[in-house]
Amino acid sequence: MPLKPPPLRNDCFALPPGVDWTPVDTALTMLQRRLAPVVAREHVPLDAGLGRVLAEDLLAYRSNPPEANTAVDGYGFAGGSVGAGDVVLPLVEGRSAAGAPFAGRVPEGSAVRVLTGAALPEGVDTVVLDEDCATGDGQVAFRGPVKRGANTRKAGEDVAEGALALSAGRVLTPADLALAAAVGHSALPVFSRLRIGVLSTGDEIVEPGNRAAPGQIFDANRPMLLSMATRFGYEAIDLGHVRDNRDVLRARLDGAVGAVDAILTSGGASAGDEDHVSALLRDTGALAEWRIALKPGRPLALGMWQGVPVFGLPGNPVAAFVCTLVFARPAMGLLAGTGWQAPVGFDVPSAFTKRKKPGRREYLRARIREGRAEVFASEGSGRVSGLSWAEGFVELDDGARDIAPGDIVRFIPFGSFGL
Ligand code: AMP
Ligand code: MG
Repeated sequence: MPLKPPPLRNDCFALPPGVDWTPVDTALTMLQRRLAPVVAREHVPLDAGLGRVLAEDLLAYRSNPPEANTAVDGYGFAGGSVGAGDVVLPLVEGRSAAGAPFAGRVPEGSAVRVLTGAALPEGVDTVVLDEDCATGDGQVAFRGPVKRGANTRKAGEDVAEGALALSAGRVLTPADLALAAAVGHSALPVFSRLRIGVLSTGDEIVEPGNRAAPGQIFDANRPMLLSMATRFGYEAIDLGHVRDNRDVLRARLDGAVGAVDAILTSGGASAGDEDHVSALLRDTGALAEWRIALKPGRPLALGMWQGVPVFGLPGNPVAAFVCTLVFARPAMGLLAGTGWQAPVGFDVPSAFTKRKKPGRREYLRARIREGRAEVFASEGSGRVSGLSWAEGFVELDDGARDIAPGDIVRFIPFGSFGL
């Protein structure tokens, strides 16, 4: 059995008494403090590492580059032996090529043919570029002075043996895999993939492809949330759809325990008569209703179901999307063993006009065109087309603000959220 960390505490989502509307940053700080990895560790081959979370610091087995080498095709010599003005050096027999080093020592005052990536032969510390040389009669001529060490790479100048190459908690990128390979790793210690269950709720919801009667709508949230979990690098597990029936919901959650590490539900998270997710979590799941000062987004119902964290997202697709990116994603990251994942935003001029009321953070569906942030024509939180139209959010801070075209706003591309 792989070793697993201890379970999360049942009160990990509890809010301090008396809290009314929680600012987004306060809510995020609480998540950051209370959540920890819930996944085991394993080793995977390097080529299976993309998108996985590194479980341990990775030290360089070997320096990169492992030995001093030439950065260009040219001629190598001892840099101390040439001065200013025209230089003519005799060439030694042979050459140093990548993977086929020159055997032996190059005497001071002589030069040797070197090809990019070749180890510098003994006696060589400086290289002059092909294009700057003339050759003939077993000699090479070029104009001095040449800076000592020119056109060479020092051993370990990128990463020295034993140095930290990659830190635990990184979500491995293609570049990280290149680095891990360069410093000698063929297998990587990673956290097991977090398993995210996704469940839709609501009497009005029907599966796309089925007949939808009047009053019914197709389930838009489940394909969205499942694919978001996949994009974040997790194993997305479809827990299907349940009607607004507490017993069925309870049975479905019970059935998921053991098969998933966390659950995203959508719909039924408020305090209405048919809001069974919050009701059930309140009865048995250590519910904390997070009234977050956020638009779009209604109360988030965060609870623990037999040790499994449940993120009760709003039913409105736009609100579910925003709450997933803003709250569930960094929270799931901590469960998965990543560091805290704060999205990177950019300050850009706005192309729109808006009056914002104080007291809550707002996320507007936005995209950049001609260097300016435009926002979707409607802020309605059921407008799925606007989500599809958008390429990121404009994030407006909690205070009041009047925005005119040309004012600087913060744009966060969806890519910054890992989508
Ligand atoms: P609720 O949070 O259950 O009150 O739902 C809020 C709104 O979101 C209602 O208009 C629901 O019909 C809608 N909704 C809930 N679940 C989904 C879903 N899976 N796909 C699309 N819309 C949904
Ligand atoms: Mg509902």
